Amino acid sequence: GPDGDPGAGHGYPGELKATLIGEDQLQAKIVELAAAVAADHELDSPPLLICVLKGAVTFTTDFARAMPIPSELEFMAVSSYGSATSSSGVVRILKDLDRDITGRRVVIVEDIIDSGLTLSWLQKNLATRSPAAIDVVALLRKPEALKVDVDVRYVGFDIPTEFVVGYGLDYNERYRDLPFVGLLGAHMYS
Ligand code: 5GP
Ligand code: MG
Ligand code: MG
Repeated sequence: GPDGDPGAGHGYPGELKATLIGEDQLQAKIVELAAAVAADHELDSPPLLICVLKGAVTFTTDFARAMPIPSELEFMAVSSYGSATSSSGVVRILKDLDRDITGRRVVIVEDIIDSGLTLSWLQKNLATRSPAAIDVVALLRKPEALKVDVDVRYVGFDIPTEFVVGYGLDYNERYRDLPFVGLLGAHMYS
């Protein structure tokens, strides 16, 4: 960004210490992921994308538009008890799917896999609803933070165990609107 301050042009001057993954790099990877997922679904009925609110919204909309095949869209909101920066694995559904997924190929679209606890819970929950298949596409993953073994077929970027914001990801509901993934300055954590 201008003056080497990535947040400055977006109304967050002095708040971010660095860009981790830039806009062009994100968009190029999303095209790759979308092609890979589409190739595996080509012969089936349109995959049902399950966007996990709110963090995956930005990724999901770009991902669906980058896919060379049709997809359908559902939203689910879950809340993991824990602090603003780490999850506990105890999950509660805030908003459930609006339809039955019996016999459907679903693709869980996630922003980030940190401990993996949220995703692991979600996979088990959806599996009880008899879908034909459950795949997962995650934009980001922190391999060193994983606490459970989760089967994620498609991953955009493996990143270090650091708290990131932007491109849907928040800190206290801020920064979701940034078009890139960045690192928050240490002074921003209260
Ligand atoms: P997990 O259950 O895998 O530990 O964490 C899952 C959720 O925690 C993510 O979907 C996301 O909402 C939040 N989370 C984990 N790591 C980060 C991060 O680095 N930045 C932000 N903004 N949220 C994160
Ligand atoms: Mg998420
Ligand atoms: Mg959050």
